[in-house]
Amino acid sequence: MAYVQGLRCRECGRGYDIAPVYTCEWCFGPLEVSYDYDAIASVLSRERIASGPPSIWRYAELLPADRGNAVDLGAGFSPLVRADRLAESLGLGEVWVKNDTVNPTNSFKDRVVSVALSKALELGFKTAACASTGNLANSVAAHAARAGLASYVFIPADLEQGKVVATAVYGGNLVAVDGNYDDVNRLCAELAGTYRWAFVNVNIRPYYAEGSKTLAFETAEQLGWEAPDHVVVPIASGSLLTKIRKGFDELHRVGLLEREPQVRVSGAQATGCSPVATAWLEDSDTIRPVKPHTIAKSLAIGNPADGYFALDAVRQTRGGMASVSDEEVVEGIRLLARTEGIFAETAGGVTVAALKRLAEEGIVRPDERVVVYVTGLGLKTLEAVAPHVGPTATIPPSLDAFREVFDPDTEE
Ligand SMILES: *Cc1c(COP(=O)(O)O)cnc(C)c1O
Ligand SMILES: [Zn+2]
Repeated sequence: MAYVQGLRCRECGRGYDIAPVYTCEWCFGPLEVSYDYDAIASVLSRERIASGPPSIWRYAELLPADRGNAVDLGAGFSPLVRADRLAESLGLGEVWVKNDTVNPTNSFKDRVVSVALSKALELGFKTAACASTGNLANSVAAHAARAGLASYVFIPADLEQGKVVATAVYGGNLVAVDGNYDDVNRLCAELAGTYRWAFVNVNIRPYYAEGSKTLAFETAEQLGWEAPDHVVVPIASGSLLTKIRKGFDELHRVGLLEREPQVRVSGAQATGCSPVATAWLEDSDTIRPVKPHTIAKSLAIGNPADGYFALDAVRQTRGGMASVSDEEVVEGIRLLARTEGIFAETAGGVTVAALKRLAEEGIVRPDERVVVYVTGLGLKTLEAVAPHVGPTATIPPSLDAFREVFDPDTEE
């Protein structure tokens, strides 16, 4: 906290004190946390980080809440695995998968929620709340339980069973709303004006969003303090993508990366909800809201709050974007599982399928060191792949029956 200067408007640059506020009263632009980077540079070192906990809190100096009172289930420091089989099947060179399926509630949302609820406690809130496409629900319910906070979690009523159960089990209030995420979000904006709750993606959003930077911090540390050439990131609200980019820039700013990072940032969306990718493909600055219809429910935000900033980041870094069909999403899940042994949820399928497309289009190149962000676990979206996979054979319990179907001796 010592290194946080305050909040600053991303549009007009106006400064604000640390408080549960999220839009500029001057221009309605979104607020962002600002830091004293010189002070951070004077204390932070690679050694100091290495001696910290194996979680997002090893980077506490670059986060807007104190490590001492953090609401910590152990989010972060997930494996960065070299993915040679995946690379070979896509005709690429050096590909790495950041496997964020292994977080405490099995998605990258644990990073943002750990920061958000830590801040909520510091600001004196007694109740946590959120509008969720699924993973945020799991994570807020779990971290609120851990912190002893009451919770109200709002979801679209048609969410995957796995995500409903993995939220309800933590015992807070779970409210299923008849409508899509954008309807839920609108309701939550009203509730946020009515109750004194810490709404992680409304009034606490500037702090929440900072948690995503840790994906960039870890990637650089795990690559031996080097930035990759190209990253592929799924887009829902667009916050994750913009913050991954910010994370690499900050590391350079505080002296942890010697060379200025030149990370190309590419975005991934499902065709059934692709307002940002559509604007990119049409070379437009306007993000037209859509009504989502895709199996990638965790990315199904039809009116993305940070869509413009994500688009801008992709343009500035000369990245690309792809939107992929639901069939390609399922194929992407299966390709990653088959080649690397990682079972991703539909958002991961979107990202891998987008990587495939971008490789085919020559936007992601074989001479680049590429990092792909796999942000959620496949067990949460079983219904997406269940119709496509099953036992190789069902047999009676006899050797003969097995031999009738399989002939392992003649296989290589
Ligand atoms: C929320 C989410 C994202 C993207 O988040 P934004 O910051 O809203 O763009 C990506 N993957 C998964 C699995 C998510 O749950
Ligand atoms: Zn402003």
